[in-house]
Amino acid sequence: MSAAVKKEAETVQPPMGGQEYKRVYDLADKAFKLMGQYETPPYPSTYALWYTYAERSNAELVEQVDQMLDKGTSLSPYEIDEACKVHLSEPDTQAGQQKIGSAFEKELSSVMALIQKGVSNHEQFQVALDELEEGLPQTVSPDRIDAMISQLMFENRRMARHSQELNDGLRESQKQIEKLNEELEEVRHQSMRDSLTMLANRRAFDKRLAAELSAAAEGDQNLCLVMADIDHFKTVNDTYGHRVGDEVLKIFARIITKNIKGQDMAARYGGEEFAVILPRTDLRAAYQLIDRIRVQFSKSNLVFKTSRQCLGQITASFGIARYKPGIDARDLIEQADQKLYLAKNSGRNTVKAEGLD
Ligand code: GH3
Ligand code: MG
Ligand code: MG
Repeated sequence: MSAAVKKEAETVQPPMGGQEYKRVYDLADKAFKLMGQYETPPYPSTYALWYTYAERSNAELVEQVDQMLDKGTSLSPYEIDEACKVHLSEPDTQAGQQKIGSAFEKELSSVMALIQKGVSNHEQFQVALDELEEGLPQTVSPDRIDAMISQLMFENRRMARHSQELNDGLRESQKQIEKLNEELEEVRHQSMRDSLTMLANRRAFDKRLAAELSAAAEGDQNLCLVMADIDHFKTVNDTYGHRVGDEVLKIFARIITKNIKGQDMAARYGGEEFAVILPRTDLRAAYQLIDRIRVQFSKSNLVFKTSRQCLGQITASFGIARYKPGIDARDLIEQADQKLYLAKNSGRNTVKAEGLD
């Protein structure tokens, strides 16, 4: 019986890489806790930042984050992006993020397998003990049988308790891992969104534009692309600070979103630049829609909640290009950019489009 116990114990040894799993798990756990503690949304860049912060492998990043935290109880998405840009290389924030995710996933699945095995091994062990108990020899003396039965029952109860504790622990870990898995799934889902404005991010935009170009080539060729850029945004930041700048970006995004329909896609193209894909929309309709957005934004009349101080008029410029057979994504973006450049040079707060300038 002791051999059986020993054999069972061996089957629940951690798998290869168990130490590494524990380290990654603990760091991920810390990263998720930090996300909650400092009220930062669970997006890939935030996750990468908190993970690296928890790992303490990048002293400069730790120092900067500590300094930022000294100033307030939360970090804005802009501060997170800035810290990532300065301290984390591209592989850290993007490919690295994916790597963390998949390494983590690998660890998770091996632990899941271990858990399943542990649970079933212990259940099997229980069955084996039960069988042993049933198959007691009939021929030995009654005293001997009594002793064996007592011994077996004692062992059986002890193992049942042990199995129960182990199973409870394993089931609890399984629950935690499943929860972590769900959080990772959420992170993955959010990786197509810009964390500040909640619009599609550049990656989602690139994917969608390629798809819409193919659709336009095959069918309805009415497809317009809009590039938009907030005017003198640097001055907004310099005058009122980045947090106010962030709020302006959110308001601009909200106005765009309010004016577009289901098939359209608004994306944060970069910093204070936005892109809007308008499938099955001709140039004139696109112009009217975008000019409405321009007017609404210029009239948004932003006021500080507490001081009631007015931010002054903030405007944006827009360039529109339309699909032509054979054009690729890069050229379409380039053409919309040229129109945007023209709008900037024409005094800003204006929309420029081919043939409608
Ligand atoms: P223009 O009218 O020619 O577009 O001038 P501009 O000042 O808007 O353009 P410029 O490119 O000189 O400055 C853009 C600024 O946008 C600089 C950068 O710090 C700021 N910015 C980029 N991303 C963010 C962000 O996420 N939040 C905030 N608050 N500022 C940002
Ligand atoms: Mg710009
Ligand atoms: Mg600008």
